[in-house]
Order: sequence, then structure tokens, then C-alpha cells
Amino acid sequence: MSKHLKIKDSDELFEVNNIFCIGRNYLDHIKEFGQTEKPEKPVVFLKPNSAIIESGQKIAIPEYEGRKISKSLHYETELVVAIGRNGKNISEESAEEHIFGYAIGLDMTLRDIQNEAKQKGYPWTTAKGFHTSAPLSEIIRRNDSINPMNLDLELEINNVRKQFGNTSVMIFNIYKLISYISSIFSLQKGDLIFTGTPAGVGEVDPEDLLEATLGNGLLKLIVEVDG
Ligand code: MG
Repeated sequence: MSKHLKIKDSDELFEVNNIFCIGRNYLDHIKEFGQTEKPEKPVVFLKPNSAIIESGQKIAIPEYEGRKISKSLHYETELVVAIGRNGKNISEESAEEHIFGYAIGLDMTLRDIQNEAKQKGYPWTTAKGFHTSAPLSEIIRRNDSINPMNLDLELEINNVRKQFGNTSVMIFNIYKLISYISSIFSLQKGDLIFTGTPAGVGEVDPEDLLEATLGNGLLKLIVEVDG
């Protein structure tokens, strides 16, 4: 199954391949979990591309055997980098050439399941990759007027600001991330990279309306939590 995202000001679609995600990329977010140590290397995990939803669609906690699998659905607002060209061992200097564009995304997380996985040493896949866990805006093409190293990220829930950050304070900037990921996994046209969340993460409730904004109105994503 392929997933396609709209491209801003275009009739073309962006076909999504793999979705890489980075954890612990903002110190203020690391600190809100009671830790102070920056990671030495980027923390990488994956979401399946079937987890994508777009503006107007709903986020839902999955059910298994008639019961919701989690009691703690969290938002994380993140800059997402869309890759436009295949590459392996990409240098930081040439990383920009591999970028097709940018989106704003929510790395939805089942926090109770993630905490249990951390404790037991299990993978995060269920907590991070469940159906609807990757709400994404349309993609804006890379251009000279966008500086990805200085973009505001904002999330409002029911019109109240819950998260605000700026990409300038990432621990590993996007060129470093592209270089690192491409050295280990390779990067392909169509891949997305969720680049990590600033502080202010928290829980959502049924019927909450989430409005994420990138770069002061450059891109918007509006999704609702299922009732
Ligand atoms: Mg995240």
C-alpha cells in the first residue's frame, strides 16, 4: 500500500515510502522526562506508512478484543523532512540536495505502552506505529525562502496553545540526521523523517481538535481525536 501526500500549490502528489522518526532531539523535551543527558547519536525508530492520516481525518486508539489498547494518547509536534532523491552515506554538506520539502507532523504516541516497552526492553513499534499515529500536513517544496534551521512549531488544542518550539535548538540538525540515517539504512525518494519534538508534550482527550502550525502559517494540519 502506498500513501500519498498533497504538495502545496501543486496537483502532484508525494508518494511516501519509509517513515523514519527521531527521538530525544530537543533538550527541553528530554528534561521533561526527568533526564538531562543528550544522546550521543540520534535515536531512530520507524512508523509504517499505513499510519498516515491527513487534515480532516481522525486519530483513534486501536481496539483489540473489544477494548482500547491504551489509556494515554500523547501528541508530539514535529518538523518532517521529505526526501526527494535516493542516497547512501550522504554527507552533511550535500544533505540539502536530497530534500524534496517539509511538512508538519504529529508523532502520536501511546505513552503507557511506550513506558512499559522502555521498562521491559521491548520495541516501541506498537506505541509509535499504530494506525493513525502519523497525522501529516501537505508538503511544501524546499525553496530559498524557507530556512529549516529556524522554523517555529506550534500546536493548539481546542484553540489553546500547548506546544511551541523552534527547529534552531535541535540537538542533531536535519543535515546531520540525513547523513546519519543514510549511512545506516540508506534514504530513498519518498522517505519521511520526523525530526523530534520540543517540550510540552501531553495527553489528548476524545473529540479534542488539534491544530499544528509550521513556520508561522506556512503549513497547517488539523485533525480530531476520535470520540
Ligand atoms: Mg517524537
